[in-house]
Amino acid sequence: MYLSVLIRSLPLVIASCLLIACGADDSSPFSEEIDTNKIYRWKMVTAWPPGFPVLQEGAERFAENLNAMSNGRLQVKVFAGGELIPALQTFDAVSQGTVEMGHGSAYYWAGKVPEAQFFSTVPFGMTPRGMNAWLYHGNGLALWREVYAPYNVIPFPLGNTGIQMGGWFNKEIHSVADLQGLKMRIPGLGGKVFAKAGGTPILLAGSEVYTALERNTIDATEWISPYHDHRLGLYRAAKNYYYPGWQEPGAVLELSINKRAWDLLPPDLQTIIENAARAENMLMASEMEQKNALALAQLRQRSDINIAPFPADVMETLKQLTKQTLDDEAAQNPKFKRVYEAYEQFRQQDEDWSTISEKAYLAIP
Ligand code: CA
Repeated sequence: MYLSVLIRSLPLVIASCLLIACGADDSSPFSEEIDTNKIYRWKMVTAWPPGFPVLQEGAERFAENLNAMSNGRLQVKVFAGGELIPALQTFDAVSQGTVEMGHGSAYYWAGKVPEAQFFSTVPFGMTPRGMNAWLYHGNGLALWREVYAPYNVIPFPLGNTGIQMGGWFNKEIHSVADLQGLKMRIPGLGGKVFAKAGGTPILLAGSEVYTALERNTIDATEWISPYHDHRLGLYRAAKNYYYPGWQEPGAVLELSINKRAWDLLPPDLQTIIENAARAENMLMASEMEQKNALALAQLRQRSDINIAPFPADVMETLKQLTKQTLDDEAAQNPKFKRVYEAYEQFRQQDEDWSTISEKAYLAIP
């Protein structure tokens, strides 16, 4: 590799600088000497259960790649949710420097940083294609880093669930009237919108979802998409599987790094993290698509399952209520408003483009 050759040959470079006029370029990350003997041993906590397919596996693969790419100079030990700290304290642990790294999704910290939800997913928001465009090439990632700066956390996109499914319902949904009084496990902004439509959102941990649906404690649940839903056996507890996942059109997963720990890293290790994160962002998202296609084929073989689109009027109503919900939040919270406006500006342009590109193409019969 070019970089490791360069580091190993540093004494040679320095020696040749003595012989010829060697202009030190301060903008080059290789201009300062790197202590290649120093090993950084970091901890990473995640918001996922131990062994959770794709998400926890992806976080572990990312850590293995950091180790391999750094030739063992950056060793990250990964802890699943609850192994070192509770799953939803990932952000706090990174912020406080208890650990150097975390993996989760920005909407988990909505109680602390409401505007962070725009960097994971919002109902009727951008798909993974639009989110990657905004984060990497629009002002998205810069804005995200600004939002997390007061918490000493540096975020990176690290995976995406892809467009989710609308969820499992124990009865057919023909109109908005069918949502009245419906008890559904649906967290976050999706839950707020669902409540405005007359439903009753219920908060349940992933481990409780199946039993609650099976025992009719709840009438419906959203979870993720065919692969994880199939694995959880939700098709045994309810028979109507609706799409699309209006509530989560692709949740961006996040790598969070404590700023002080980041600042202490030599520039080559920072570059390795940044690029390994980009690679894993693509790997996790593409793995979800491949596994979902396979799991959908399995679900299609079951004659007792009704896989159906939500009626158009249900989507229209929920979309209107989403706009109301976001506008209400923005009216009360200037920080939320600022990110909402930046997000919306990009989303509207992206919608115009994707309507005549991907959407038009996929609509060809
Ligand atoms: Ca979900």
